Amino acid sequence: MSDCIFCKIAAGEIPAKLIYQDDEMLAFHDIKPAAPVHFLVIPRAHIASCAELTAGHAPLVGRMLVKASELAREQGLTEGFRTLINTGRNGGQEVYHLHIHVLGGPQPLGAPF
Ligand code: 5GP
Ligand code: ZN
Repeated sequence: MSDCIFCKIAAGEIPAKLIYQDDEMLAFHDIKPAAPVHFLVIPRAHIASCAELTAGHAPLVGRMLVKASELAREQGLTEGFRTLINTGRNGGQEVYHLHIHVLGGPQPLGAPF
């Protein structure tokens, strides 16, 4: 998707503070962190949102979640962290390229709801 900001990050066309990449996903710090540690895990492939997922995506999304957890630990979130996926207009999604938010810090996060 030529006009997708996360596709551009995946292609190296715009910079991001990358913390991980492989042939199917990457992780980078959120430009506007909502917690002391806040990074995003995205697939390289353009998938607009969680609502577009099909059964074929399950292995990829599973590996993304495993990687999110590994990276959370590496980022120092040994006492816990929050994962979040916003989906669609009513889910508060702003960037229409699937991403898992990972948030945390030294203190407990406030209640999300
Ligand atoms: P959403 O609301 O779609 O779940 O979250 C999108 C997230 O992407 C937001 O937390 C926002 O700060 C982050 N974001 C938007 N544009 C950029 C960017 O160009 N670079 C990085 N690193 N994060 C971005
Ligand atoms: Zn994209």
